[in-house]
Amino acid sequence: MKGLAMLKIGEIGWIEKDKPDIGPMDALVKPIALAPCTSDVHTVWGGAIGERHNLILGHEALGEVVEVGDMVKDFKPGDRVIVPAITPDWGSSAEQKGFPSQSGGPLGGWKFSNFKDGVFAELFHVNQADYNLALLPKGMSLEAGVMIPDMLSTGFMGAENANIPMGGSVAVLGIGPVGLSAVAGAAILGAGRIFAVGTRPNCIDVAKKYGATDIISYKDGDTAQQIVDATDGEGVDAVIIAGGSQNIILDAVNAAAAGSVISNANYFGEGETLPIPRAGWGFGMADKDFATGLCPGGRVRMERLADIVTYNRMDPALMATHVFHGLDSVEEALLLMKDKPRDLIKPVVIIEE
Ligand code: NDP
Ligand code: ZN
Repeated sequence: MKGLAMLKIGEIGWIEKDKPDIGPMDALVKPIALAPCTSDVHTVWGGAIGERHNLILGHEALGEVVEVGDMVKDFKPGDRVIVPAITPDWGSSAEQKGFPSQSGGPLGGWKFSNFKDGVFAELFHVNQADYNLALLPKGMSLEAGVMIPDMLSTGFMGAENANIPMGGSVAVLGIGPVGLSAVAGAAILGAGRIFAVGTRPNCIDVAKKYGATDIISYKDGDTAQQIVDATDGEGVDAVIIAGGSQNIILDAVNAAAAGSVISNANYFGEGETLPIPRAGWGFGMADKDFATGLCPGGRVRMERLADIVTYNRMDPALMATHVFHGLDSVEEALLLMKDKPRDLIKPVVIIEE
């Protein structure tokens, strides 16, 4: 089978590999829709997870089951499925402690295009199929469905971890597809006022549709100050970080009110340490907490996110600004994700309607 791989840091290319073997609890799946991610860009061109050779990329997919192991009860060949970006080891100690995304070590639930071949291939392997796959609801568009495995799961996690009070104010720093999903998640969770921070016009348009009440440009001066001024000096009840480099933590802490949670979904690619503003953090005593998390995976999570789409709480297809067709075009889609033209939110690749 062929797949689009990271050949080494900074280089991608198509390679041939043997079809993956599956264990008794696993499934072999072929993709029907794919999406490249900012994380794929960080992996290849930022060296985010270190050197990898001939590792097939991609972790965002909808698929069709081709083969299942003897112990798989709920899925059979031909089923159309949502494949979570994160496929934890269910039954691991981390899962039993309540943190399945960290099973097998820090970020260990992230297997595709990290510890094993990813989904940008003719076929891919899914561990513990009954626990990780979810049926794709009939009638859901592939453009909407393919946002579920990572964008909705990660963005909503950002909102969930932020402990937003009903009617509370939230600032979402960064409104690419992760931040936009966080805006939608905050609105669904009952936020009152939602500040969305970004500059790309398409993103701003979708942020408003997802419930943003105030748009802030980080290019118009200090982000935190703009938010503090707009809230009569109070700051916001919750902050979600979904973009920017390490100094965005300064904005997050300075914009946060006492009693707030600063919920991070962002990847920080530089520096041995990250900054916290000493005064803004009340010299360590400001009642401003941090929360972090890796995208949640697993079947129940995917089924619940699918219900949010099915029952029209938000429309993730609004983020699919660039639609490609055929497995081969995943290369062009990934390069587009790397270049991030200003009209891009998220490219998707449709393989089979
Ligand atoms: P994008 O690059 O599409 O979006 C980034 C956003 O951040 C843009 O809106 C951009 O604004 C904004 N931004 C840039 N600089 C600043 C700044 N100084 N202040 C405020 N906003 C700023 O990224 P994605 O949405 O695809 O991904 C966001 C992050 O989430 C990435 O780091 C990605 O690796 C990470 N991620 C984390 C996961 C997890 O499991 N925790 C899973 C998936 C992704 P502008 O409108 O000007 O472009
Ligand atoms: Zn992703």
